[in-house]
Amino acid sequence: MSNKHELKISEETKNFLESEHLLYIGGEWKPSTSGETIPVFDPATEDKLADVQSGTDKDIDSAVEAAREALSGEWSKIPSHDRAQILHRLSDEIEANFSVLSELEVLDNGMPLQLAQYSIASHGVTLLRYYASWAPKIHGKTIPVSPGGVMNGDSLTYTKREPIGVVGAIIPWNSPLIFAILKLAPALAAGCTVVLKPAELTPLTALYFGHLIERSGIPKGVVNIVTGLGETAGDALAKHDDVDKITFTGSTEVGKKIVSSSISNLKKVTLELGGKSPVIVFDDADLEKTIPGVARACFFLQGQNCMAGTRVFVHEEIHDELVSGVRSMAESFHIGHGLIETNDFGPLISEDQRKRVMRYIQQGVDEGATLVCGGNEVNDKGYFIEPTIFTDVKGDMSIAKEEIFGPVLCIEKFSNDTLEEIAKRANETTYGLSGSVWTSDITTGHRMAALIDSGQVSINCHAAVDSAIPFGGNKQSGWGREFGEEGLDSYLKTKATTVMY
Ligand code: NAP
Ligand code: MG
Repeated sequence: MSNKHELKISEETKNFLESEHLLYIGGEWKPSTSGETIPVFDPATEDKLADVQSGTDKDIDSAVEAAREALSGEWSKIPSHDRAQILHRLSDEIEANFSVLSELEVLDNGMPLQLAQYSIASHGVTLLRYYASWAPKIHGKTIPVSPGGVMNGDSLTYTKREPIGVVGAIIPWNSPLIFAILKLAPALAAGCTVVLKPAELTPLTALYFGHLIERSGIPKGVVNIVTGLGETAGDALAKHDDVDKITFTGSTEVGKKIVSSSISNLKKVTLELGGKSPVIVFDDADLEKTIPGVARACFFLQGQNCMAGTRVFVHEEIHDELVSGVRSMAESFHIGHGLIETNDFGPLISEDQRKRVMRYIQQGVDEGATLVCGGNEVNDKGYFIEPTIFTDVKGDMSIAKEEIFGPVLCIEKFSNDTLEEIAKRANETTYGLSGSVWTSDITTGHRMAALIDSGQVSINCHAAVDSAIPFGGNKQSGWGREFGEEGLDSYLKTKATTVMY
């Protein structure tokens, strides 16, 4: 554990942290009508970083009003090619401010610096540029129809793709900037306007991003950022009758609340929720690649990752070798502050989250699983927990069924079961987000992948994420897809027009 070094923080990051953090509504920075603020902490030191505004339902009203006005204002008149250029300018701003954004993400969320840098460059910038390129390619179709009824004669029918309208975006704390961009990029490419509600634990990069949005020439009111609590600002946004769509990433529990909140005006809803993803390792897997792959699948972002591969099913022939390899990797992580570049394993997001994960570890022990390594808090400042591995896990144990959202890997064995029998065990969960298959046999790989009930399956890697690959959950892991063309589609509606000659 190395947390003690002097942290290197740039002047610009310090200046931003010391500045006043306001709400961004209608192109203006404003205090909340509540007059209240929320403290924001560094989870690796427990030090306070800043105070942000606690937005209210009145602030949400103003933000939605600004977004509604902007939807039919200047934004709607900007040609799609120019919309693309604006999004490219926003990407340029991210590149120009890359080191501040990376430092802020590490301080606020706790992730290792290399991961923050990788995700901002490879996902943030790429996502914006990918969707910028889509903007001028949004178009409808002409449709041949059967004459008759009112269309008795020559006619032409065509469809247009229109922005769905005012979008409310509610995001979690585990990859704050990437989720902000994942919502904004396709929404803006489609011509929508947005009210963004960041997570109360990690609002800083979204606020900094607000300044970049301001500089990039996006008209006032197109993007509005309201920090605040889920049960106040988030709930007001989800219930708002003038919001056309909510895009939500977070827990399945809150996702269900969003659905009931959407009922009053039947707004459209996209949900990216929790996961408990299986990792299936056959006895012909290349262990040199599989061992680090399995370790990363679970321990990436300290397991606070919706796609985390937390349930490993491994053939008994290679069980011991896999366990010992993954254990060595788990024990080789450098735990500590993400701004110290040699560290590659950060803290959990909060004391509440750490307590929750420790409760699950105790339950695992009580239910009879074998604790192979980890299982302890790291006793220093910050919410650190050791990477933890359980073997002899049974499908009915709570650690095998429930999303822990921490660094806890559960390993089960199979022998000469059929692919269908393995799939039955792998699919025995209410979730269906991700999964992976590790084998040298291409037929086994594809057959197994086809049997896994999830929105995404990877073969010989885990959680292949790319701007162009649709991503989303089956079962209680969500509604709809993000990324790729399907991600854009969810911000568009189709209008059919028929003309009679
Ligand atoms: P969360 O508690 O569901 O919070 C997500 C967001 O919803 C936060 O901004 C939160 O505000 C807000 N919120 C809370 N209650 C609300 C309400 N009643 N109405 C409207 N908004 C409300 O989730 P989390 O703990 O931040 O994130 C962890 C979860 O996200 C995990 O289950 C994980 O699997 C899931 N996740 C899924 C994906 C995916 O793509 N499928 C990706 C990442 C994470 P506050 O911050 O104030 O609570
Ligand atoms: Mg924080």
